[in-house]
Amino acid sequence: MKLIVGNWKMNQNQEQVRAFFSALKSGPRQQEAWLAPQALHIGLALSLAPHDIKIGAQNSSEQDSGAFTGENSPATLKDLGASFVLVGHSERRQIFHETNVTCAAKTKRALSHNLAVIYCVGETLTEREAGQTLSVVKQQLRQGLSDLGGWHPGQLIVAYEPVWAIGTGKVATPAQAQEVHAAIRTELKEMYSAAGQAVRLLYGGSVKPDNVKELMGQTDIDGALVGGASLKATDFLALCQ
Ligand code: PEP
Repeated sequence: MKLIVGNWKMNQNQEQVRAFFSALKSGPRQQEAWLAPQALHIGLALSLAPHDIKIGAQNSSEQDSGAFTGENSPATLKDLGASFVLVGHSERRQIFHETNVTCAAKTKRALSHNLAVIYCVGETLTEREAGQTLSVVKQQLRQGLSDLGGWHPGQLIVAYEPVWAIGTGKVATPAQAQEVHAAIRTELKEMYSAAGQAVRLLYGGSVKPDNVKELMGQTDIDGALVGGASLKATDFLALCQ
């Protein structure tokens, strides 16, 4: 089974969240589905989502509590019933200046609360054109995921999201995505042996109902992280089929 994760970013009002879940009930889903609404809507989403859909956050703090105005505590996310967090999405890295070091701290903290972590990596267009894709991604993995302490199988997921493909309509070709996924699999195996090799790898970047099948057919692609196409229940259902 593939894992389809929707990242709603800073979208959807309460009425839209309600409409989404009501529409979702009408269609079949063959693949595993998770959703990350705005943190403000996590409680609402948890109250509406079918039991087999996990709800998570798009970001969480490297601290549990204290004087960190505006941050999302991973301890509170867990307490609310969230199951996972995204860490290191390219918008967090680029707009909010998160580094691999910040991401490592966030990952460690979230794992310690038994949240699953979807750690996002990916190169910019400049880095791809300079032939640096694999070295950039490996560095993001090494610096973000070394020395994690304990985590259990299934708790760590990696999303490869080329920055040039996010929200641009430019999707990586299945071969481009597979090449990087295979390199990520090898790197994780070197870092964490069999547990690393078993980490699920998601592709993200302009995934849509009309291109998902070919991408999901690649050996090392275990699912998708989807922004724009996860906002409409009909598209999300189509992806989950
Ligand atoms: C994302 O935000 O993680 C993403 C992949 O967005 P989109 O599907 O819109 O490119």
